[in-house]
Amino acid sequence: MSVDIAPYIGKLSEIFMASDELYYKSQEHYRCTSSEGKKEPFSCTGCQDNCCTTVFYHYTLIEYFYLAQGLSLIDDQEMAEAIAERSQAYCMETAKNPYKTDSLRIMCPLNFDGNCVVYKNRPMICRVHGVPSSLNQTGKPTQYWDGCKRFRQLHTEFPLVIDRTPIYTQIALLEGQLRKEMVFFQRYKKTIAEMVIDFIKDEPFLSSTPAPPSCHGSCGK
Ligand code: SF4
Repeated sequence: MSVDIAPYIGKLSEIFMASDELYYKSQEHYRCTSSEGKKEPFSCTGCQDNCCTTVFYHYTLIEYFYLAQGLSLIDDQEMAEAIAERSQAYCMETAKNPYKTDSLRIMCPLNFDGNCVVYKNRPMICRVHGVPSSLNQTGKPTQYWDGCKRFRQLHTEFPLVIDRTPIYTQIALLEGQLRKEMVFFQRYKKTIAEMVIDFIKDEPFLSSTPAPPSCHGSCGK
């Protein structure tokens, strides 16, 4: 059955825009002093601990399709080849250390010279990491994140906390609708590198009938 994922991508884009607004407000709230002595919104500028080297996992198909849309816009062949090579290397590294990915530091294959090449299409965690946030899940204690290492070096009090709950709830609803329509109910847990490898395997991509990515990534996890 043909599944048109464009409307799902459109809705996710709206959710991400709302989430980005919350992030900008938080950046404004937690202003910091620049090297020139100016007060500026909190940013990654000057950070020595690039969070793009953290091994994050992503749990939704819809984020995969969203990221894949960004990947499909890359028209620089050399860069595309570099991304493929880096993704393979990344997967080999995580496969060697499957139980230590929390402490691994590997640069995301989509980060070139400190810039994300799919910035508009980056997944959720890349959008909220950095500033204080919380999440309420039924039956679980509320989770809190104090922000990234740089944030904690600059701020010791956290009066403004982004509540991830409504954002994640909307994504979960969208994901549920997409999976139902695609009849895809397997667990999804992948790194960016695994998503890239899936994207390469799935091309031509983003016709109106995408195939669900395989359950296991190239790392065989
Ligand atoms: S997708 Fe972009 S923002 Fe996210 S870790 Fe990779 S380079 Fe960084």
